[in-house]
Amino acid sequence: MAGWDLKVGEIKQTYVTDEDIWKALNQFYSHGYTTMSYKYGFLKSLIENLYSVNENLELNFTDIFYSFTKIYWNLVIHHKLWQSHSKNQPSSIQKSLEDFCLKHSIPREWTFDKLSDSKQIEILEIIKKNGKKYVIGAFYSDTNSFFYEFDLKREYLKFNVPVYRFFQKHQRTITYLTNYHLAKFLESNNTVPNINYILGKVEVSSKRDSLAKYLEILSMYDKQNCFYCGKSIKKEKRSTHVDHFIPWSFIQNDNLWNLVIACQKCNTQKSDKIAEDKFLNHLLVRNQELSKQVCDEASNLFTNYKEDKLIELYQYSIYNGFSAIWSPSY
Ligand SMILES: [Zn+2]
Repeated sequence: MAGWDLKVGEIKQTYVTDEDIWKALNQFYSHGYTTMSYKYGFLKSLIENLYSVNENLELNFTDIFYSFTKIYWNLVIHHKLWQSHSKNQPSSIQKSLEDFCLKHSIPREWTFDKLSDSKQIEILEIIKKNGKKYVIGAFYSDTNSFFYEFDLKREYLKFNVPVYRFFQKHQRTITYLTNYHLAKFLESNNTVPNINYILGKVEVSSKRDSLAKYLEILSMYDKQNCFYCGKSIKKEKRSTHVDHFIPWSFIQNDNLWNLVIACQKCNTQKSDKIAEDKFLNHLLVRNQELSKQVCDEASNLFTNYKEDKLIELYQYSIYNGFSAIWSPSY
């Protein structure tokens, strides 16, 4: 595999068209020599962090490999899926996860969410080290060295502007394609009933078990009123839902600035739809106030949040085909 030993990488071609990017991406998906599932997991992690970039379109490795570790943990440990073409030789990332599990006597059915914060950080550091060694440079080379620049020492990558815009425009399609190729790879290396079985696991591999942690923070601000219909939901604690304003199926992330409290009725009715734009304005105001109120620990949940980013995300979700606009029935 070329490029895996690079320490830094520059963007070889800054001006690229959508056609160039499709070409590179299709080449990347269809490369016959892929012996590990890394690159698909890595692309999923990039997409998941698309709206976590700073103003220079930079992503830090901790954010990327947090997503990557979560996805891999759920696939390798929770779903027991083999990640390499070789039946005897597990990938080094798979091995690191399994060793960690054994060392700390963690039950194999646990999802990543069940690990304590300190255990999550411990395994994240191990996987990040692996990723710096095997993934960052290899993915960079596999995609014609123009998707991003990176520096292993500074632990960041910076998107090429046209590639970033391309990801925004085609986010939903790229998510589908990447999930499909990852599922196809796993199907050929695991004994499973069918590809749908795997696809189902892959599609939710980055999803959290519970948003309870966020409910606590949001409750400080929303005082248990539904963000959409305004109805008080204080008395029915169990029917208090945390809703992804931009549907999770699109953003694939749990950024606090995209989460609101909703009653059961609104949450169910809204489902995978986009709320009408007056709610976007409400959310911009909510975020402004919430970011001021949240405590120190939670305040980093607003790192790299910008109003423009949320507006862009709203527009791009519609561009990506989320065209059903929802409003609550009062
Ligand atoms: Zn409601």
